[in-house]
Amino acid sequence: MCGVMGVFAPREADVFDDLTRGLFQMQHRGQDACGIALGDGEGLDLHRGLGYVREVFASRPHDGFRGCVGCGHVRYPTQGGNRLQNAQPHRIDSFADVPLALASNGDLTNYDSVRRQLEGAGIVFSGRNDAELILNFLAWKHLRCGSSLREAIRALQAEVHGAYSACLMTPDALHAFCDPFGLRPLCFGGEGGRWFVASETTALDINLVDLADELAPGEIVSFTRAGVERWAHPDPVAARGGRATPAHCVFEYIYFSRPDAIAFGQRVYDVRKRIGHWLATHDRSEGDVVVPVPDSSNAVALGYAQAAGLPFEFGLIRNHYVGRTFISPDQPRRDDGVRMKFNPLRNVFKGRRVILVDDSIVRGTTSRKLVRMVRGAGATEVHLRIGSPVTRYSCFYGIDTPTAEELIGNRLDIEEICAHLTADSLMYMDVESLCEVVGNPERFCMACFDGAYPVPIVEAKQARQAQTAG
Ligand code: AMP
Repeated sequence: MCGVMGVFAPREADVFDDLTRGLFQMQHRGQDACGIALGDGEGLDLHRGLGYVREVFASRPHDGFRGCVGCGHVRYPTQGGNRLQNAQPHRIDSFADVPLALASNGDLTNYDSVRRQLEGAGIVFSGRNDAELILNFLAWKHLRCGSSLREAIRALQAEVHGAYSACLMTPDALHAFCDPFGLRPLCFGGEGGRWFVASETTALDINLVDLADELAPGEIVSFTRAGVERWAHPDPVAARGGRATPAHCVFEYIYFSRPDAIAFGQRVYDVRKRIGHWLATHDRSEGDVVVPVPDSSNAVALGYAQAAGLPFEFGLIRNHYVGRTFISPDQPRRDDGVRMKFNPLRNVFKGRRVILVDDSIVRGTTSRKLVRMVRGAGATEVHLRIGSPVTRYSCFYGIDTPTAEELIGNRLDIEEICAHLTADSLMYMDVESLCEVVGNPERFCMACFDGAYPVPIVEAKQARQAQTAG
């Protein structure tokens, strides 16, 4: 998951506040660690810490921490533990003639073999982190041989596989690039001498910057004193291993991006409302009230209620200060987390047939608890509606999903899941309908739903199994 950001404003004294504001807007993309690198034209400084942006960057780390070029990151670990060595951006001072810093969003699928290759050449890694690998690959393998940064990125795109949307900076330039499939979003905006790059348009909005465009798969955008240059991938089909179309992550719409973000050409809020509309118009059950599991399904439930002509109510009040229940290390703590996170409004539920809307079911922990909670609050029936198809497969491209064995949708059919969750009925979308709702389905990766992985996952799967066993 994670969020990245970059700012290039050579005529300004400092972009620290711009970066902290933007990262704060993307805090939902990663809460475990964050970091900022700043360049002042000559040197580069880096500060990283474990925790939220508002904690790590409550104030400027030291007075000299200033610069007119910068990049930053919020981290949600899918690989490597929550240690400071794994926080981003990463920095490298050797090999290239200037220091470099890099922040990336996504997971690499051939991390181990590339790392072995680099370790064989004497490179020592401080942690297990994709950004560190990408940076070492760029700096050692190519820049030291005299390749330009652009050539180095092209070599990376040919040899290092998986998902990466990244900001790479020198003390006086910023480069944004993504993998040839464009798995994770990356956009940019600005004008004149002030440019912003970010995983989400929300980071541009807060800085009062208009979206200029999203990066095309495999594209490189360079911001230097000479201006802005865009480099389309010269051979995108070959670079994608023969697959003719991009593979944007559809889960950005389902769960991950904020509803006010524009991702892959569409406002996330609009897509979610259309999902709700689809659910309502294909639902044969009768309900009295539509209630979302906040926050990610709010727009889905609203779309449902509007299409069905039913009242929409916030029946579950969410405590926003509870960390994610999803990644708690063990099941008892996850169960506690659900109770800590949601409190039911009895007057919304009492004596009513409830259409309860959530965006997805992963292990089934949240829905099972919530169905029981809603019934306990007086609902006569609980009909669970899910704004996505059954999650049957793990993601290897940067969304934190457990192993396939832990996914309830991989073990049970829909009837069995419904029985396990003790709901009166359960309805998901099917993959074809999600394709219709998002439009241009051939442009999306839906591997978590249909198992059609655009980038081979053999090595990534082995690495994950080894980690789980370890
Ligand atoms: P679970 O309780 O394991 O079934 O998780 C389902 C809940 O987790 C839903 O309410 C989703 O909003 C949320 N969710 C779905 N995918 C993720 C993810 N990758 N990380 C964190 N939460 C998620």
